[in-house]
Amino acid sequence: MSWEAVIGIEIHVQLRTATKMFCPCAIPAEGDAPNTRTCPTCLGLPGALPVPNRAAIEKVLAVGAAIGAKSPATTRWDRKNYFYPDLPKGYQISQLDLPLAEHGSIPVTTSAGAGSVRIRRAHLEEDTARLRHEKGADGTRASLIDYNRSGVALLEIVTEPDIRDGETARRYAEELRLLLRTIGAADAEMENGQMRVEANISLRPSSDAPFGLRVEVKNMNSFRSVERAIAYEMARQAEVLDAGGTITQETRGWDEGSETTYTMRAKEDSHDYRYFPEPDLPPLDIDPAWLAAIVAGLPELPGTRRARYVSELGLTEYDASVLVAEPRAAALFEAARAAQQGLDAKLLANWVSGEYLRVAKEGAADPDSVQFAALVAAVASKEISGTTAKALFAEMITTPLNIREVIASRGLGQISDTGALESIIADVIAANPQAIADWKAGKQQAVSFLVGQAMKASKGRGDAALLGELIRAALDR
Ligand SMILES: [Zn+2]
Repeated sequence: MSWEAVIGIEIHVQLRTATKMFCPCAIPAEGDAPNTRTCPTCLGLPGALPVPNRAAIEKVLAVGAAIGAKSPATTRWDRKNYFYPDLPKGYQISQLDLPLAEHGSIPVTTSAGAGSVRIRRAHLEEDTARLRHEKGADGTRASLIDYNRSGVALLEIVTEPDIRDGETARRYAEELRLLLRTIGAADAEMENGQMRVEANISLRPSSDAPFGLRVEVKNMNSFRSVERAIAYEMARQAEVLDAGGTITQETRGWDEGSETTYTMRAKEDSHDYRYFPEPDLPPLDIDPAWLAAIVAGLPELPGTRRARYVSELGLTEYDASVLVAEPRAAALFEAARAAQQGLDAKLLANWVSGEYLRVAKEGAADPDSVQFAALVAAVASKEISGTTAKALFAEMITTPLNIREVIASRGLGQISDTGALESIIADVIAANPQAIADWKAGKQQAVSFLVGQAMKASKGRGDAALLGELIRAALDR
């Protein structure tokens, strides 16, 4: 029979702060020696007291405002109690019933169209230590604890069970990451564990039936894994239910290699954590003026920006989403538009999402936005050819260039003069009898070859479209 999936997503994200959540320790960096970023507070030593990180709280309030959530007048910290070696205090400071933000939503566009996912809550908590299981010096198995990550500020953001398939879950996680990066709340690099996605999945026979028993899936280390793990888990549960079996409430891990989920442990219910208000921290009043200043400081959000690019600049939905998906690309696009008034937005968008994003993904530095705008403007006015412009772009990302000066001093102006191009074409045709024979035999690609040769002869300065036209005319004569 057919089943409807009910999916809710919980995401933990490391906030972009200089220090940990409740102590002045620096955020550990890749390559730090174990247990070097610690102090009595994040080691959970008796008598050490927590001091909340203002920047972390501001970032969560900014996230709340960006997703249209409400923040309470007073928020509170709670202890989530459990015993495990990664938690030296025996509890984690978190937030239970007064989270920093509640009832928001995030726009999500999938292959089925535009929609949104409701956010139930967003709150702050502290990260735990890391366990490493390895062989000790004498060859026996040992479990080592690195407290560097203990106490790092985490945002936990939980959706309503609105999601029905893996694609929507993936798009939601991608959009949340983009939002967090745009407002500077987090870097959210999934591959570095800065963003951890967990999905709660259950099936029911119809949309008015009560929720089925849910399974939590963890260890999805990429957006692609999120989509595939959910699809796998939906199929697995359907198979169990179709065979007359029952679903066990449990936590399962996603195995990237075999592309399957496996049982990790029986699921704890929240009452097992025996939450109670944190006695070492007073409740936190959120001053409306403080919140208003945070809201006023928000940049343009991805959804707003995409809509503006389509309605004001005439870009396609696709072009707008490619630009907005990479904050660096959107920043270059905006800066170039500011530097060169009236620049063709569509052409600029093509240059940013084509040439720029290609080199940016290879790790290149950003070009100077004023010179980049001048380059695209020279292409728009047909002053230089596309070939010349690409060569200049490749040069300007490693060497500072003044585009106007370089075009003048190197004589790079595009040759659009028919007479000059005709003489180049005559030479090219004389030098390539095989291509002429091919063309006469009906091989259309001979024209592209001849255009290429003519471009080469013009040192990349020929107007490619005009060359094509003139070569076809010459061949027809
Ligand atoms: Zn510390």
